[in-house]
Amino acid sequence: MFSPFEEMQKAVDVVNTSLHPTSKVAATLSGEGFSVSRTNYWPGSILRHFGMEQDIGNSSGTLHAEMHCILTAPVTAGSSLFVTDPLCPNCAKNIAEAGVKAIYIDHKGFDKDFASRRGDDFQNMSMQICARAGISVYEIRRKEERIIPILEIAPDYAPANDAPVIISAIGTIDRAAFLDLIAESRANLQGEKFAVALARDGNGKAFGLTVKSHLAVGYTKREDRAELHHPQGKYTCILEPANRLLMNAARLGLKIDPACLYASTVPTAREQVNLVGAGISILSIGDMVQARDEFSIMAMRQLADAGILKIEQV
Ligand SMILES: [Zn+2]
Repeated sequence: MFSPFEEMQKAVDVVNTSLHPTSKVAATLSGEGFSVSRTNYWPGSILRHFGMEQDIGNSSGTLHAEMHCILTAPVTAGSSLFVTDPLCPNCAKNIAEAGVKAIYIDHKGFDKDFASRRGDDFQNMSMQICARAGISVYEIRRKEERIIPILEIAPDYAPANDAPVIISAIGTIDRAAFLDLIAESRANLQGEKFAVALARDGNGKAFGLTVKSHLAVGYTKREDRAELHHPQGKYTCILEPANRLLMNAARLGLKIDPACLYASTVPTAREQVNLVGAGISILSIGDMVQARDEFSIMAMRQLADAGILKIEQV
């Protein structure tokens, strides 16, 4: 069993290694037999081609520290996260999808200029997402060795999960298996936005993963469509399918093959940056024109032109 104070200290110890000039954030993710600490960062290929200033579509080129941990950890189901700063709604959605069960936030993160910059997003969205997903949230005071509950989840709470990832065992990872899974998913999910990937577990066993876009964990399509929204539209409660694939693979301890990820329409700019961060090198797309917004198309062109993400129509 880990000590929450030591785990938080590990995050604090690396926070100044973040290259971000103004927003240095770090996190530790701890679970059965592992503990990883990471900062927010630019994937190397993005940093080299675009630098720190340029956006990819309408997304920054950085991955948040929470995502960096999730994409690094061996398996995230049931893990605990320790963060130097209160989390943003996008990370809250992804953390929930990755199966993290508890979040600890350093008390210093609530000082700074947090309240003026991100306080509302945290209170109104991130915490709602955690409550629905069944994630307990605590403030941690290292010096006093105190843990203050912010959100406690009833032990018998089970979040709704009406569109889980579909997992199938496959023989080997190759082009034929990839195309088969795309064709099968296309037939089953006619007209829906979805993504598929081939992945391996720690023993090299191969799996196919299929997900459609869905609301954050604990929200259901029938009842919650309008409930969770950001006043300026900066965040939505929808989790896009390629992001869901990354988070579910992390949750299950599966490593997605860098050349075997498919999205039925163009992923959002943020998703594409996350895909690069997850080591994906070839992105297969069904409909190259369909996208949530024009920034998705812009990001696809930027990353393809820079040779960072090879785009293939399938
Ligand atoms: Zn975040």
